[in-house]
Amino acid sequence: MRQIRPATRIRGAAGWQETGCIYNPNVQPIIIAEHLSKTYKSGKIEVPALRNATFSIGRGEFVSVVGPSGSGKSTLFYILGGLARATSGKLIIDGIDFATLKDGERTKMRRSRIGFVFQKFNLLPTLTARGNIQIGYDIADRPQRLDPAYLDHLADLLGIKGRLDHLPSELSGGEQQRVAIARALITRPAIILADEPTGNLDTKNSDAVLDMLKDTNREFKQTVLMITHNQEAATIGDRILHMRDGEMVGVETGVGHVTHV
Ligand code: ADP
Repeated sequence: MRQIRPATRIRGAAGWQETGCIYNPNVQPIIIAEHLSKTYKSGKIEVPALRNATFSIGRGEFVSVVGPSGSGKSTLFYILGGLARATSGKLIIDGIDFATLKDGERTKMRRSRIGFVFQKFNLLPTLTARGNIQIGYDIADRPQRLDPAYLDHLADLLGIKGRLDHLPSELSGGEQQRVAIARALITRPAIILADEPTGNLDTKNSDAVLDMLKDTNREFKQTVLMITHNQEAATIGDRILHMRDGEMVGVETGVGHVTHV
């Protein structure tokens, strides 16, 4: 039976403790969030989308964040990705305190250290698969030229080597998402943030994409944080964080592969 522990308890050297912090004591953290909150304001109405989230993600960990629609997953994703600012709380990513960054610095940090994978793939329709991957590298403004052997290696790993000269419209949904994953990985980011990466895929393609995300996580040791409302997909994570009504309400150990009930 799956055991979901309450978010407020962690196991430290002294056994289970009430701390309000979710973390994995076995790995060095790359993301540390303390009392992170976000309130949207529209007119006089305030919507507390994220409340007091305190957790950390270890370097190289694959963490799934699950919760029903409206639980604050996307809000968390935007804040972690530097696409939105928290209303309060602290966020440290790869040793850098996000609150201290100006907008331009945050953009730079995002481009250099974070790779994004979205539900709708977000590929440029007029570029081939290769062009889409290449552009992910170009906008990161790396000093070195892209190593074509690395692009080939990624394409091989993701099973799209023979599809690189095709336009997105000539690719299946699963292939498009694998191109999007290659685009996210091409800069060798420290962190991959994936928002419902299998939301537009059928079960077979969804499983294949998740397996590849896991394979690349193992091979390149980058941290993956995947947001999903799909409990089966979430089990691929090393850990699963549960959200409800804007709060982190529980943590569960994942199994490292997709489980179908
Ligand atoms: P999820 O991704 O889990 O579906 P969201 O983070 O999108 O959840 O939303 C959390 C809550 O914040 C919801 O009540 C949603 O309606 C609200 N919300 C999200 N974005 C905005 C916004 N830009 N303005 C006002 N309320 C918002």
